[in-house]
Amino acid sequence: MESKQEQLNKLNAEMKACSQCTLRAGCNQVVPGDGSVEAKIMFIGEGPGKKEDELGVPFVGAAGKFLDEMLLSIKLKREDVYIANTVKCRPPQNRDPLPEEKEICWTWLLKQIKIIQPELIVTLGRHSMEIFLPNYKISEIHGSAMRRNFPGIGKQVFFALYHPAAALYNGSMREVLLKDFKKIPKVLELIEKDKK
Ligand code: URA
Repeated sequence: MESKQEQLNKLNAEMKACSQCTLRAGCNQVVPGDGSVEAKIMFIGEGPGKKEDELGVPFVGAAGKFLDEMLLSIKLKREDVYIANTVKCRPPQNRDPLPEEKEICWTWLLKQIKIIQPELIVTLGRHSMEIFLPNYKISEIHGSAMRRNFPGIGKQVFFALYHPAAALYNGSMREVLLKDFKKIPKVLELIEKDKK
């Protein structure tokens, strides 16, 4: 039986070789994900930006710095969590990923989730939220945990947040994000209590 790390390494190699949609031809490299395979929390953003495309690591630009800061506010580092995106290749000019691109890349995201088996999935922004919690508005559900029986995953707790990039030039959004983020430890505690 392969370890989770071995399974993830194999998956990363498969993702890096993927050219199932046109995004791959327009970017520098595939950005599979970053963090610990044993993470209890998995963050899912939208897609790589310029810096992520250069370095091959998710959330390393300005939005990533804010994500690191929020993680620190709950005493976590990126090595303690897992960070991935709905699409693994940078869309041209940072445009929104198209539904068909998200659908093709969903196969990879689902495999990542199945290997990591996080206790909590935190969606960052509308694009990520829409995959798991369609029919909701981010303005209505940000900062609240929801348990869903999700096809292919099973029972899973989701927690929707605004995208960290939304806070970069908007002070009140920054406060909302920081406040929502601080709820994460309590949500995890409740999930763990529930398991017993
Ligand atoms: N924004 C995202 O959604 N993902 C990244 O990896 C970087 C910025």
